[in-house]
Formats: sequence, C-alpha cells, structure tokens
Amino acid sequence: MSNTPSSVAGLSEPRADSSSPIAQPAPPLWLLAELTYRCPLHCAFCYNPLDYARHDRELDTAQWRRVLTEARALGAAQLGFSGGEPLLRDDLEELVAHARGLGFYTNLITSGVGLTDARLAALREAGLDHIQLSFQDSTREMNDFLSSTRTFALKQRVATLIKAHGYPMVLNCVLHRYNLPHVGAIIEMALEMGAEYLELANTQYYGWAWENRLALMPTETQLREAEAVVAAYREKIGKRCRILFVVPDYYETRPKKCMNGWGSVFLGVAPDGAALPCHAARGLPGLTLPNVAEQSLSDIWYHSDAFQRFRGTAWMPEPCRSCDERENDLGGCRCQAFLLTGDPARTDPVCDKSPDHARVREVVMHGASAALAGHATASEYPLVFRADAASRAFASGDAKAR
Ligand code: SF4
Ligand code: SF4
Repeated sequence: MSNTPSSVAGLSEPRADSSSPIAQPAPPLWLLAELTYRCPLHCAFCYNPLDYARHDRELDTAQWRRVLTEARALGAAQLGFSGGEPLLRDDLEELVAHARGLGFYTNLITSGVGLTDARLAALREAGLDHIQLSFQDSTREMNDFLSSTRTFALKQRVATLIKAHGYPMVLNCVLHRYNLPHVGAIIEMALEMGAEYLELANTQYYGWAWENRLALMPTETQLREAEAVVAAYREKIGKRCRILFVVPDYYETRPKKCMNGWGSVFLGVAPDGAALPCHAARGLPGLTLPNVAEQSLSDIWYHSDAFQRFRGTAWMPEPCRSCDERENDLGGCRCQAFLLTGDPARTDPVCDKSPDHARVREVVMHGASAALAGHATASEYPLVFRADAASRAFASGDAKAR
C-alpha cells in the first residue's frame, strides 16, 4: 500500500453538483477494500492508523463478497485491494474473481511481498486488471531502512514477474526528506524496469507519517529541485513512462479537493468493516463510523451521519462559507484540519485564507530547520516505524502521539 489518496489509479470526476444540501448524492465510483492491517513491512510513512492494532478483527470471505456485490449494485466501478498487505489474505484470488464477475475494474496495491509466480498466475486467471507495486527508494539501503525490512531485491524480482505476466508496470514511491534528492535515480530505476507509469507521491501527513512529520518534512529547495528533475525527465522520455508528481499540501496555498469531495466518489472499507469516507477518517473525533457488518452499503452511503457530515458545502465555517472558491476545493481535508487544529470542521489550514494557516508554516519551518541541522535530526526526531508493538502502545495509551 502507498501513503496517498491518489494511489488508486483512475479516480474519476464526481457526476453530480457538489453544492449543498444534496438530497440524493451520486453513488460512489471507487471502492477501496482494505483487506487487512497486517503487513510484513514497517514503513515510517504508512497511512494506516497509529492504533491499528486495536482493530484486529477482519471481515471474512463471505462478508467481503457481500460488500463487493453491494458496492457494485450501488454503482461503484473501480475497486482497489489494499491494506496492510492484501496478499496476506489467502482469499484474495476468490475476491478478485468475484469482483471480476461483477464487472469491477480491479487494482491490487501491494508491497510485492508474497507475489510469487504462482500467485500472479492465479490472480491473472481470476481476472485482476492492474497491479501497483511500491518501492521506498532507488537504493537498497534506503528502501530497506524506510521499510525496516530487507525487501529491495524481492521487489526487483516481483517487478520482473509482473511484466512477465503481461501487466503494465505501475510503480509507486512515496517521497519525503530522505529520498527526494534521489528522484532522478528513482526515475532511472523505473525506466530500467520498463515502467509505463510512475507515481511519485509526496507524503501526506496522516497516521505514521503524521507521527514522523518533523523527520519526513522536506525543505522547499528539495521539493523544487525534485520538481525540476521530473520536468526534465518528462521532456526527455515523452510517453515512454508517464510520471505523476503530487506536490505535498503543506507547500501549497490552497488545499486539494480531498477525495474529490467527502462522500462524493470514494468509499473505503477498513479490515474490520468500518466504512470510511476518507482513508484517514478513522482518526477523526466525534465521528461514529458505520460498519458494513451491521448496515447495508446503500444505507451507509446515503443515510449515515459519517458520510453526510462533510458532504457538499452546508457544513462549512467561515471563511469557506462565503468564499467564492468553495466549489473548487470543498474546504480541503477534514483530517488535516483536525490534526493541525484539533477541530475537523475548521477550514483546512493549508489554505492561506484560513486563520490557522500559520500552523502549517510552523510544521514546514520546523521540519526544514531540522533538515538543515543535518545529523542532529535523526536523534532529535527518530523515525517511529509502523509495527504491531508500537501500535499496541498507541492503542493502550502507553505511547503518546507527538
Ligand atoms: S507498512 Fe508500508 S507496505 Fe505496509 S501498509 Fe504501510 S505503507 Fe503499505
Ligand atoms: S477559504 Fe475555504 S473554500 Fe476558500 S479557498 Fe480556502 S479552503 Fe477553499
């Protein structure tokens, strides 16, 4: 799994006007099935919740089949299998075949661990359309450091296998202070592997990435240099490999239309069946997430408080409420607003019209000055790697989020 909301390919435009109130919203287009929080990797930027260990129950095969059937009946057309590492579920092939039978376009988002030749053949047979393989860096040392595993060589083998089975090569690499200076080498690696598509996604600061924000936040110079490298490669390689470079919100003055609008096109289902209007919504206070084991997806999508809460524009506070740009970004990201201000209903502080914009600048400046301090950074802000023991400590309150 990668870190960013944009990592499921082909997110489409909403089909209904997003202005509020919405009597009957358009159906979801995109279902993200987070099959499990289990993962062999320990990425320091993982967007799974810090306390994921608290939610260790997983929907069984029959429940997932029902979720897929209901989502397709609602109108969803694109399906991402994610996690954790979805390959840890041995019913993945059955779920892919079921989704294929329903007419979904299916995408597997994977670290590559467990993707053997036999498994690839079975997934091909089941009708899997698309695979997105994540790397952490172009060097073995950094890849293995950031995931706290020895997986670089394995990922290289898996990339070859994916090609051999006739899939397009789609690579994802999450960027931050540690690997932004390697962007050119990461692109070269992707070209050597014959990648048709490379997503260079700057870290979004939720979950473990939020915990590690001061260690991962790049400097503005790093970002601008990386952007220039990407632009030069685009010019040089043309259509040989499409490179997507997603600039981090913290360096913008307007937020993104998060998930294309709350309850607009995206429906996530967590391993335990919690339905998510956004990947990171599990961390929002005061939001009771409906569960697919107890309610139909239709009921959840059209009637639950969680999916209605920030839909459209009626919920907006000032300055968004009277802003003539409100349809462009729908007030930005609710999770970002909560993490930076403690209130999920405030204007996203990324916006320079927000009264809280200084908080974003503070994180950026703090991170940048830590970066400039060089080695002092590592001891001042040691990375907290995603791991079950650490997650249990967050869940029990033995560890406090920074
Ligand atoms: S630890 Fe890494 S590979 Fe595993 S779910 Fe998190 S980001 Fe994905
Ligand atoms: S004030 Fe709100 S609606 Fe206006 S640009 Fe900023 S975030 Fe968007």
